[in-house]
Amino acid sequence: MQQKISALFKEKFQGEPSLYSSPGRVNLIGDHTDYNDGFVLPAAIDKAIYAAIKPNGMDGTVNLYSVDYDASVTFALDGPKPEQMWACFVYGVANEISRMGVRVGGFDAVFGGDVPLGAGLSSSAALESVFGFALNEEFGGSLDRRQLARAGQLTEHNYIGVMCGIMDQFASLFGKEDTLIKLDCRSLEFEPVPFNTKGYRVVLVDSMVKHSLASSEYNVRRRQCEEGVAVVARHEPGVKTLRDVTHEMLDKYGSEMDPVSLKRCRFVIDENKRVSDGCEALKKGDIETFGRNMNGSHTGLSREYEVSCPELDFIAGFAHQFDGVIGARMMGGGFGGCVIHFIKEEAHDSYLAALKPAFKEKYGVEPRVIDVVIGDGSRRLV
Ligand code: ADP
Ligand code: MG
Repeated sequence: MQQKISALFKEKFQGEPSLYSSPGRVNLIGDHTDYNDGFVLPAAIDKAIYAAIKPNGMDGTVNLYSVDYDASVTFALDGPKPEQMWACFVYGVANEISRMGVRVGGFDAVFGGDVPLGAGLSSSAALESVFGFALNEEFGGSLDRRQLARAGQLTEHNYIGVMCGIMDQFASLFGKEDTLIKLDCRSLEFEPVPFNTKGYRVVLVDSMVKHSLASSEYNVRRRQCEEGVAVVARHEPGVKTLRDVTHEMLDKYGSEMDPVSLKRCRFVIDENKRVSDGCEALKKGDIETFGRNMNGSHTGLSREYEVSCPELDFIAGFAHQFDGVIGARMMGGGFGGCVIHFIKEEAHDSYLAALKPAFKEKYGVEPRVIDVVIGDGSRRLV
């Protein structure tokens, strides 16, 4: 992939480019916690977007070629937003880092990668991060990785219209081999947690269901959490978000809440605890407890937060029964997407050989399998 991108650059443009990469990400435990000021546990993966890039000396003129769409676009950095969504990510992040003080000029770039699009591995964060990182280097900027993550998040907000948190960009920029990132979404402090996967595999199984309910239900869940917080805050002035709320408070004031809100709030408190307990277990080398926290996350997301679907429940249920699967849970916003598995190496093939026909028999399609390895974050390759 890297060679192909460099070769294509030389075919389409002048000169020797620099080559950069930024990965997609997984999240081992901690969903729907980010917007509640809680904890998440993402990691960068071995699937990435690669960009060959060179300043072209032309004032603000950008020439892009997307390998995966086999399409070229030219735009001015201070001109209107390009029509193609994939080009908007580049236009957006270049403008965001300019606003942060980097003197971004014109450039030529060829890019492409192997992060599956729209599968929940955050190909969009990989794309923002690779261009943010590369342009900061190429134009002598002094932004750190934290600022680049923020620039990627603002690109989603201001140019794509996706009001995401910062986890995906953070993982893409800060990822390290054999390491999970325990990110505190309130302070944006993070702790690297060693995750030595020797003898184990991380595997995603795609339910093949598209998240059609995800955005409307996402807003409903956010509101239910806020309603719960508002009730507690009437009694406990220090409470600002669910991060400040305990089960004891819910025992005391829960009767004043809508029962559904109460259930959602309990889930978020438990999910934060599963992230922390899972990390403590990993530090002690207690893989089994880590896996149980992954499983608990799925059960909570399905029964208490109610963001799963039959296909995801089928895969996770199958996994939870299967010897050698350490942990499995739906990953992401819900209503479709993938189940992430942490699985013993020796069980990998037999698990998939049993799951695939069983899923196909029930749902009529073969689920897509995506094997990943925890890898490094954004970097310059050449
Ligand atoms: P994901 O969950 O993978 O982040 P999104 O819908 O947020 O899914 O982002 C996918 C979009 O990101 C694509 O529609 C495209 O515009 C852009 N994108 C991602 N990967 C690539 C790529 N390899 N080449 C060009 N554009 C890409
Ligand atoms: Mg995305």
